[in-house]
Amino acid sequence: MRRLITIVAPVYNERENIELAHRQIEAIHEERLADRFDLEVILVDDGSTDGSTEILRRLAVKHDHVRLVILARNFGHQAAISAGYHYANGDVIVTMDSDLQHPAEKIPEMVTRWQEGYDVVYAVREADHGGFLKRWCSRAFYRVFNLFSPTKILPGSADFRLITRQVRDALNQLPERCRFLRGLIPWLGFRSTEVTYTPRPRMAGEPKYRFFHSLGLSVTAFTGFSVAPLRGLLVLGVLFLLVSVGYLVYCFADWLTGGTVVRGWPSIVALIVLTQGLMLIAFGIQAEYLAKIIQEVKQRPEFVVREVVGDIREQNRVVRDTPEQPAPDPPTTEPTSAQEAET
Ligand code: UDP
Ligand code: MG
Repeated sequence: MRRLITIVAPVYNERENIELAHRQIEAIHEERLADRFDLEVILVDDGSTDGSTEILRRLAVKHDHVRLVILARNFGHQAAISAGYHYANGDVIVTMDSDLQHPAEKIPEMVTRWQEGYDVVYAVREADHGGFLKRWCSRAFYRVFNLFSPTKILPGSADFRLITRQVRDALNQLPERCRFLRGLIPWLGFRSTEVTYTPRPRMAGEPKYRFFHSLGLSVTAFTGFSVAPLRGLLVLGVLFLLVSVGYLVYCFADWLTGGTVVRGWPSIVALIVLTQGLMLIAFGIQAEYLAKIIQEVKQRPEFVVREVVGDIREQNRVVRDTPEQPAPDPPTTEPTSAQEAET
């Protein structure tokens, strides 16, 4: 029986890379997989403004196996992958970047591991990529995350992975909106394994992940998977209480033995400033959790689709967050739905 393999690639201003990325996927499919698998490529345009949309549209019109999902604005890498997962029809779904950093040659190896019985195949970076700061931050993130979170993630496993349709369905059923896929997929369980790859340098264009984006994703990861920072605050509070009591006892003993308490006032001021600082940090950490709760409570969709180009199967054409609504009109290259995205 022939199976369908879906490749999902998020695209944000990748006009120089898209066509080559598609050609490489197509070539690998033809050479190594076409005897057993049909191909579906879902390109998710995450609000590109550099003309990528037109190139993507041409690809989707020209090739039957290419489907294009255009988001209403830039929702971010994780949301774009989620949109791709939502529309994928494949028995297995592989997500990979569209800037050619994830080598398509690894896909057959990932498929082989799936055929051996694994439901999730992570492609793990053999070498770190990016500048010194990025490498250091990335390593520190994985270490601290795995220390505090009961769900462990493989260091160097970005969003280059294969999952089965069953895992995708389980993932789509999770109700949360603030998604850190790298944590959610291990959380689901299933049988998983890894293959390694050496990331290539970006073909063209600028990396979209700036420091503050990565920081934001780390906050989503922590608030989504660990309450350790909140517990840590309690431990810190108790510690400071003990230190303050100890210091008061010292002052009292000093006064009893004829010393002058006034002598210690700078250290008292220092302690006050320190505790104030700690309180502010404590409030800040709590505010991050509170902000995530507010986002979840609002139940806003993770992404909004403006248009779908290509032959997406009817049952898959409903935006995940509004499953009770009727399916939109049949596939067309004209806008099928335009929803206003609240920020
Ligand atoms: N991307 C996206 N939306 C964004 C940022 C990035 O869809 O808001 C896509 C981008 O086009 C690329 C992938 O996500 O295919 C990874 O982005 P990037 O190369 O900038 O990240 P890095 O490889 O530096 O981690
Ligand atoms: Mg990249």
